[in-house]
Amino acid sequence: MKSEAAENLDPIAISEQQFDRAARHVKGLKRGLVDFLKKPKRVNIVNFPVEMDDDSVQSFQGYRVVHNRVFGPSKGGIRYHPDVTMEEVVSLAKLMTWKCALVNVPFGGAKGGLVCDVKALSERELRRITRRFTSELFDELGPHQDIPAPDLYTGEQTMAWIFDTYDKLHPGFNNRPVVTGKPIEMGGAYGRREATANGCLFATERFLSRGLIPERTDVAGARVAIQGFGDVGAVAAHAFHRQGAKIVAVSDSKGAIYDANGLDPAVVEEFKAASGSVVGLADTMTITNQELLELDCDILLPAALGDQIHAGNAADIKAGLVVEGANNPTTPAADRILQARGIYVLPDILVNAGGVTVSYYEWVQNQVNEQWDYDTTTEKMRAKIHAATDAVFDRWERFVVGEEDSGDGRPDFRTVALVIAIERVAHATLMRGIWP
Ligand code: NAD
Repeated sequence: MKSEAAENLDPIAISEQQFDRAARHVKGLKRGLVDFLKKPKRVNIVNFPVEMDDDSVQSFQGYRVVHNRVFGPSKGGIRYHPDVTMEEVVSLAKLMTWKCALVNVPFGGAKGGLVCDVKALSERELRRITRRFTSELFDELGPHQDIPAPDLYTGEQTMAWIFDTYDKLHPGFNNRPVVTGKPIEMGGAYGRREATANGCLFATERFLSRGLIPERTDVAGARVAIQGFGDVGAVAAHAFHRQGAKIVAVSDSKGAIYDANGLDPAVVEEFKAASGSVVGLADTMTITNQELLELDCDILLPAALGDQIHAGNAADIKAGLVVEGANNPTTPAADRILQARGIYVLPDILVNAGGVTVSYYEWVQNQVNEQWDYDTTTEKMRAKIHAATDAVFDRWERFVVGEEDSGDGRPDFRTVALVIAIERVAHATLMRGIWP
């Protein structure tokens, strides 16, 4: 066991550290506004009973946190996981505010979580749990109020149940925009399923094209290791592979597989669908998730849980570039270690913002019951991700050449992205005028 003991992994403490690091570069930010921006606007904790398939009754706890609504209705995924805590959901809601601000999507930040182990539940149980959770939140949700989306261990089916429940409780309205990430036949957007992963690729390509890593100006030929093989990780494997990258390793909750010659994502996907895991695929070496993170590769793409790169393993990361498909995969201590080692980290609020961007497009289409085609949606999203990547890179360059006083030396990309987002939210708050 390596020395990660001293690191405080409390999600709220981490989000505050990240905020404070950035906020000191935001000029004229008043103390009271800092306090407001650091805290969630609203925290809902709900407990409810559900009848299980064996006639027993089980109690579940869920959270829905709204952090900020300065730019519009709050937006954020709902995750189902046994380790979900209120603190984690609060920190993820904040991340959504900064993400939407960074890509100029007119939503505020929210997040939801339900403490449950999806793998131990039947589909009928999941449906009852989801319906009850949605009904407990009742008027907290709404097409112009708070709009959920998929996250860890939730997907199109979960979103369909949330929509149906909300629609039953609010008859007589076009309720489609109450939730995004819906199945296509229920008003989902073409390209939403692929959006987060495509966004990871677009941000990476744009970043590399700026030439900061001279020997690597595009993803073709790059050796890529991906942690997580779900909605983000598996689709990212396809997206990077299509552009000529070599996917040397992928993983899921059961372990990781490695092939120096490169994996075929379609073959891995087929194997996982049949066997339940990527582990065991013929002609691959089984390694641990820890070993995957420390592989000698060009791009490391965490696309699973938070806190995966921390004080205990950051010194062993060998990738030249970390691309954060997951939310919060890198702790502040790891950020500092990676920065000192010259390893660039493209932050979650930029890299995985393709998901919320296309969720916004789904919401727009739902207002008028239209459906755009895949290319239209994806190209609009690409433009937004490119613009946000350029904004971060350009601002970072200005810090480097000293046009702005960076205070503690060269900031990392996370800090710069947060500076831009905090400035935008703070400015909009003041433009609206503090109520009353
Ligand atoms: P998912 O449930 O579809 O997939 C999660 C993957 O992580 C699965 O392959 C699972 O096996 C793997 N995993 C779980 N525990 C693991 C462990 N201990 N070690 C390694 N792998 C493990 O979830 P997702 O939607 O792909 O979300 C993944 C991450 O991306 C999360 O951090 C989420 O917040 C973030 N994210 C998702 C979206 C989206 O549109 N789905 C958008 C933005 C950010």
